[in-house]
Amino acid sequence: MAVPKKKISKSKRNSRRAHDALVGSAYEECSNCGELKRPHHVCGACGYYNDREVTIGEEAA
Ligand SMILES: [Zn+2]
Repeated sequence: MAVPKKKISKSKRNSRRAHDALVGSAYEECSNCGELKRPHHVCGACGYYNDREVTIGEEAA
């Protein structure tokens, strides 16, 4: 139900806005293969981190 703006107390208004904060996405695209990966984690699909291969010993290439 619509309530006039001036009828809403600062407390009520701010309490409502307490849940309005933006939350970052938990996943981003790998810059190498485009697969979704967790930020600050090695890509599970291609083993790249910061645009270079960082996995050691897991694959012979
Ligand atoms: Zn990748």
